[in-house]
Amino acid sequence: MGIVVQKFGGTSVGSIERIRNVARRIREVHSQGHEVVVTVSAMGKQTDELVALAGQITDDPSPREMDMLLTTGEQISIALLTMALHELGLPARSFTGWQAGMVTDAVHGKARIKRIDTEKIRQCLDRGEIVVVAGFQGISEDGEITTLGRGGSDTTAVALAAALSADYCEINTDVTGVFTTDPRIVPQARKLDEISFDEMLELANLGAAVLHPRSVECAMKHNVPLVVRSSFTEEPGTWVKESVTMEDTLQVRGIAYDLNVARIKVLGLPNRVETLSRLFGLLADAHINVDMIVQSEHDAEVVDVAFSVGEDEWKQARNVIEQNRETLGYVKLISETGLAKVSAVGAGMVTNPGVAARMFTALTDAGIRIKMVSTSEIKISCAIARERAKDAVRALHTAFGLDVNIQQEVTSPAGV
Ligand code: ADP
Ligand code: ASP
Ligand code: MG
Repeated sequence: MGIVVQKFGGTSVGSIERIRNVARRIREVHSQGHEVVVTVSAMGKQTDELVALAGQITDDPSPREMDMLLTTGEQISIALLTMALHELGLPARSFTGWQAGMVTDAVHGKARIKRIDTEKIRQCLDRGEIVVVAGFQGISEDGEITTLGRGGSDTTAVALAAALSADYCEINTDVTGVFTTDPRIVPQARKLDEISFDEMLELANLGAAVLHPRSVECAMKHNVPLVVRSSFTEEPGTWVKESVTMEDTLQVRGIAYDLNVARIKVLGLPNRVETLSRLFGLLADAHINVDMIVQSEHDAEVVDVAFSVGEDEWKQARNVIEQNRETLGYVKLISETGLAKVSAVGAGMVTNPGVAARMFTALTDAGIRIKMVSTSEIKISCAIARERAKDAVRALHTAFGLDVNIQQEVTSPAGV
């Protein structure tokens, strides 16, 4: 039997009793004859608490020191979990990201994994030990400790599974799988037995916290069999895979939301060929992810551009633009925080032209104003006021027939 990678999130290791429960779950897989590599997050809400501690000192912490601080959370949980495994009589050893050979680029706070030097892990596995690796962290080529971005332990797990050619990677969390939307907001959400990589990637990118987007990207790229399941029950969970056999004709597979959205409007830019590339080039150089973009031309001379960024990055985005005011030549900069983005995702959407209209109607009927729209072949997203986000998710879940016990209308692909 081969290697299995098991990941347990913050809630799953949120107390000593839960850590003991996780140790028993690991024992189960180990006793089936698998070699086991485990990744864990920090206990409970500890990462949030560490962020808040830093906030008591400064509004603008050094990214390097933030990584130094946040990586301590995972270091606590790997040590405690390994002790719990020892208590069950199992040989186990914990590793920080750098000890495990997790080499990343040097972008603090959102580092990307370059490679994993797996020698040490393999030596442990060869000795029959269970390997417990701190999630969400790594080390840059020049020896700096980095983190992969919030929720990044999922990516640690999948990257380990890819590097070790594991049989499968199991993401154990506080819900029983991937649902049609966040089951904490919509109790009528349905659990999916399986979902395609494409759809899962889109849902994760659009805010479905159940999987870190880069974990899905990595699983897709390296073809890692991936399952999301509960740390607390024996239910089978959701398999994320290349293509799915069921419900392929559904227009909309799920609804996602992201509460971390801000909008920046740059008004009165010169209407020139290079305007957009210059503006977004500056933001890219500062590693700021821009999401929705709307351009409106006044006339041959002047153009306005509005775009959305994560609210945690809007100050940085605004500063970058203000520092380049002369080069960009705009008249006015307006920023707006407190927004959210709600999205409908489904591979069947591409052949069904009515989806956008249905989405706008559902939001209008709920009295929700749409501030920006963006679309791709398999999603439609709307930016709205954050305080209406949950109402919007509920309205869309019902409008697209996703509520449990409601059969979704299945339409034929266009032209058939
Ligand atoms: P962990 O600490 O285990 O990594 P997260 O809080 O990061 O857990 O992710 C699990 C949470 O994701 C769930 O508690 C749920 O509220 C949220 N979630 C959002 N969208 C979905 C969805 N479509 N399906 C399942 N859970 C979702
Ligand atoms: N502890 C980190 C966080 O809370 C990483 C993770 O849980 O995946 O974001
Ligand atoms: Mg998570």
